[in-house]
Amino acid sequence: MTIPTRAAGLDALHDFVPRAGADYRRDRNHDLGPSRTNVSGLSPYIRHRLVTEAEVVDAVLDRHSLHAAEKFVQEVFWRTYWKGWLEQRPEVWRRYRAEVRELLAGDLPDGYEDAVAGRTGIDAMDAWARELVDTGYLHNHVRMWFASIWVFTLGLPWQLGADFFLRHLLDGDAASNTLSWRWVAGLQTRGKTYLATTENIARYTDGRFAPTGLATDARALDEEPFPPATPIPDDEEPSAVGSRVGLLLHEEDLEPASLLAQLGSSAPPLATAAVVADASSRSPAGASSLVVDFTAGAVADTAARTHDADGGAATILDSAGAAAVLDWAAAGRLDSVLVPYAPVGPVQERLDALRPALDGAGVRLVAVRRRWDSRAWPFASRGFFPFKERIPGLVRR
Ligand SMILES: Cc1cc2nc3c(=O)[nH]c(=O)nc-3n(C[C@H](O)[C@H](O)[C@H](O)COP(=O)(O)OP(=O)(O)OC[C@H]3O[C@@H](n4cnc5c(N)ncnc54)[C@H](O)[C@@H]3O)c2cc1C
Repeated sequence: MTIPTRAAGLDALHDFVPRAGADYRRDRNHDLGPSRTNVSGLSPYIRHRLVTEAEVVDAVLDRHSLHAAEKFVQEVFWRTYWKGWLEQRPEVWRRYRAEVRELLAGDLPDGYEDAVAGRTGIDAMDAWARELVDTGYLHNHVRMWFASIWVFTLGLPWQLGADFFLRHLLDGDAASNTLSWRWVAGLQTRGKTYLATTENIARYTDGRFAPTGLATDARALDEEPFPPATPIPDDEEPSAVGSRVGLLLHEEDLEPASLLAQLGSSAPPLATAAVVADASSRSPAGASSLVVDFTAGAVADTAARTHDADGGAATILDSAGAAAVLDWAAAGRLDSVLVPYAPVGPVQERLDALRPALDGAGVRLVAVRRRWDSRAWPFASRGFFPFKERIPGLVRR
């Protein structure tokens, strides 16, 4: 079980650090079953920023050289890359959201119910679907095989597979999930698909699975072109906050200490603080109870670690709707609400709806973007390979 606290995330990081070098490079692609030590299992913590990417990379580079831990550090930067890429192409997320809504509202395609219930008759797929639902996690290689078989063998819409993942993964993330599914389907790197094969699955599962009858051909899917990329907007100037400032944390970033430390002497005294999350907004079909419980646990842990200027504990808002935030802001007589910047995804949608409601009440919503993101995201304008070249420089900073 993944315990939804920052302390548990830091313990998991501490345990993993010795294995982040040569061991990770050699063994990371194997999936020998649920009790794994060859990968970190940190993704639910990193996804919610219970533990930040900077902390993970710092801890690993305290123990290993960048050369020795290159593979692991690159994986952490895959997340940063996907987020920066989507940030510049928000329409990719909007279209995905609309398509999922449409697909779930219509007649579900033949084979869909069997695929999500683990009844395809392909033993590996069925075991993985059950593992996802029961644990909220799948190994990276399994995610690739699963997505490939979903799209090319079962012929199901990639959007419904991505939605199934997003509803059940504890680390379910708008950018990493959507763009990885698009990559498998040949939409992300146009024309380049990922084909799962019996031999590769047998090799990397140590013979636990060797499914037969898989597609032998993976023709890239096609789609209408998207508008050109838009550059990452500049940071808002946090010194422009007012005199009664409330901090509102959300499920994209639950580590206030380092976020506020980034503001240095311009960090305002906090009149009040609150935490809110809505895991069910990941999909029109909601999120699994594992995801909902993990998120609720992470919110409770964050509230216990977060205090206002007088040492008062943070409030947990029971609804993520604008009305609950407006009530909290009014009770605190706030003129500004400081939030961690929410990248493209459900929380950004929520903040976009909240902003005019707060404006109407005379309260400014001010987002603070982490330096980690501001420095790296602009380099995510093309493929991962040019981005990767920037990693040593980014790590040095
Ligand atoms: C179809 C598909 C869907 C995916 N959906 C998600 C998702 O919703 N959320 C998510 O966090 N990751 C997603 N991934 C990426 C990856 O599978 C997971 O991050 C990884 O398996 C998490 O396990 P770990 O923490 O043990 O990873 P480790 O191998 O220990 O890697 C360390 C950290 O690096 C990051 N990371 C590693 N690989 C990737 C990657 N390929 N892309 C982005 N970040 C990576 C994660 O934050 C991870 O915790 C997806 C991959 C595929 C192929």
